[in-house]
Amino acid sequence: MQPIIDLHSHTIASDGTLTPTGLIHHAHVQGVNVLAVTDHDVTDGLQEAFTAAAPLGIQIVPGVEISVTWNNVTVHILGLNVDPESEVLQQGLDKTREFREWRGKEIARRLESAGVKGAYEGAMAYSHGKILSRTHFAQFLADHGYARNVRQVFKNFLTHNKPGYVPGQWAALADAVSWIRAAGGQAVIAHPARYKISGNKLRRLISEFKECGGVGIEVVSGSHSTNDMHQMAGYAATYELLASAGSDYHGPKNHWIDLGRLPPLPPRCVPIWQDWPINAGP
Ligand code: AMP
Ligand code: MN
Ligand code: MN
Ligand code: MN
Repeated sequence: MQPIIDLHSHTIASDGTLTPTGLIHHAHVQGVNVLAVTDHDVTDGLQEAFTAAAPLGIQIVPGVEISVTWNNVTVHILGLNVDPESEVLQQGLDKTREFREWRGKEIARRLESAGVKGAYEGAMAYSHGKILSRTHFAQFLADHGYARNVRQVFKNFLTHNKPGYVPGQWAALADAVSWIRAAGGQAVIAHPARYKISGNKLRRLISEFKECGGVGIEVVSGSHSTNDMHQMAGYAATYELLASAGSDYHGPKNHWIDLGRLPPLPPRCVPIWQDWPINAGP
């Protein structure tokens, strides 16, 4: 049997709702053999993930999901098999988190002007003292009745032209890819079908990403439709990029798809794990 591989997941180190240990235990229940832990702009969850995974025979791929601003669009770049000890990577992530901290205060300031009181402290209470994400603001606002659920908070408060929206000033694409490479990792465009950009612009993104040294594209994503998946498989072939697969799991109440439920890569794809030593599996 093929091992079950999932190369995109989150913990409470960023905006997931499970601890690294909780995530690994759930991955085990779901039969996952190889799991990349890819928190937003931070690698703090990795050590605990390795410790929890060892006795269960789950292979952890150390990863990170870096926030990038490319032509005014926020794009997420995954680093897979990064060395979390890399100074270049950690300095880059530090810089990215500095913007995140400033942005958190700015989101709260703007929400305050729109009549939402105590959003900063409120969101912080959901962030476990780690990085502050829009997800934490959304959880606070949803739980305090400002909208029906997290998704509605995003729609009504936290996206373009809404009161709590703050434009991204994240890492440059070339920088994010170079940090990942400096850490010995492989750079992958996360959930490429989720960006609200034209086909032309997406092709430009992919081609610039490749010129910067990026090697992969998430063909299978929890957030992709079957149609998206086939389209991205086409781009992977055209641009000679390796194909990745990840659920983007954030926890039991906040996910596109459960762990261990991803469809297989379409046949023409070259899996990003083709040269990896995969030692887990039934
Ligand atoms: P941030 O990096 O702090 O801007 O937060 C982005 C995160 O918010 C993403 O990684 C998703 O987990 C979450 N997110 C973005 N858009 C939505 C949405 N429409 N509904 C629910 N969660 C979302
Ligand atoms: Mn997230
Ligand atoms: Mn993402
Ligand atoms: Mn993600």
